[in-house]
Amino acid sequence: MTVQETTSTKSNQADGGGHPEVLGRIRDEILARKRFLLTSHSRPDGDSIGSQLAMAYALETLNKEVRIVNSDAAPEHYFEFPGVDRIEIAPKFEGTADATIVLECSDLTRTGVSGIDGFIINIDHHGGNRMYGALNWFDESAAACGEMVFDLIRALGVSLTLEIATHIYLAILTDTGSFHHSNITPRTFDICRQTVEAGVSPATMARRVFDSNSFGKLKLIGALLDAMELLHDGRLAVLRMDDAMLAACGCTHNDTEGVINLPLTAREIQAVVFFKVSSTRDVRVSMRSKYDVDVRLVANEFGGGGHKNAAGFTVSGGLAEVRPRIIARLEHAIDRGLQTRPTLVSSDPRESA
Ligand code: 5GP
Ligand code: MN
Repeated sequence: MTVQETTSTKSNQADGGGHPEVLGRIRDEILARKRFLLTSHSRPDGDSIGSQLAMAYALETLNKEVRIVNSDAAPEHYFEFPGVDRIEIAPKFEGTADATIVLECSDLTRTGVSGIDGFIINIDHHGGNRMYGALNWFDESAAACGEMVFDLIRALGVSLTLEIATHIYLAILTDTGSFHHSNITPRTFDICRQTVEAGVSPATMARRVFDSNSFGKLKLIGALLDAMELLHDGRLAVLRMDDAMLAACGCTHNDTEGVINLPLTAREIQAVVFFKVSSTRDVRVSMRSKYDVDVRLVANEFGGGGHKNAAGFTVSGGLAEVRPRIIARLEHAIDRGLQTRPTLVSSDPRESA
């Protein structure tokens, strides 16, 4: 199969209307195939875990064979969710598949898994997707890749089991930053409504995802916030973590998940940058922002990507040299973003009506 089809969509609907043509193609190719490899980006988050497992359960109800291979393990608290323990962790896919579905991954190399060839279906919502698949479905308007997986599962005629609904909700809950980010639409809530009708408990999900810290993580939060720098008249917060800090708190890198959102709870802080320095890996840079402060543009300048309010990139080598440039770009992004005054009304309520 050499044909490459690509579709970007602005706004899909959860009721099955307004779908791009490529969704029908993806459905047909899935129905015609038997063995699937699913994968997603390295250092998986809730959207990558939820999207992969919702897809896996849906494929299995269609009697398909599914393997999920990721380069990194899920953060520990996700192991409470069904199927997370079946995800294989490996740097290389050994085996054969009739198709690989890559979810939530803008670039095939971001999987960190080699040995992926053959028929690739690329489903993603990150700006700058490289369109590396035989079929590419890219929808930047989706608040989570899980929204797109939901539409695909519906298109496949699979009904929402509790497992599928749980993973769709997990994907949306986490990728919207617990319903904080600006790309949430009526469609987001419509999908969530259907997952709750299928049995998902939002209260339990929120507790399991956000209230499952270890004591070590609480200590780490304290240490990180204690060392936090405030720049640009208190509008930019800078967090820095290294291996010594992790060891002192008895934590691993996975314990940093979600910590970046805490500084944004201060009214004045408009953006946060989190430098994760490691003696064995390159420096990971994560950013979060409020309203129209666009951190994806900053990430793009340093070879990364993401979304307006959540983006990241990797710095190979030392941080000292690039840090001033990163800070300057963030301060610029804050100044630009603050030019528009946030209102209580969504930007165009008719857009997804
Ligand atoms: P996080 O800060 O949680 O690692 O990432 C925030 C968002 O930015 C996620 O949507 C993530 O996929 C995206 N992102 C983080 N790092 C990179 C990167 O190196 N490249 C690209 N393209 N996206 C990234
Ligand atoms: Mn996502």
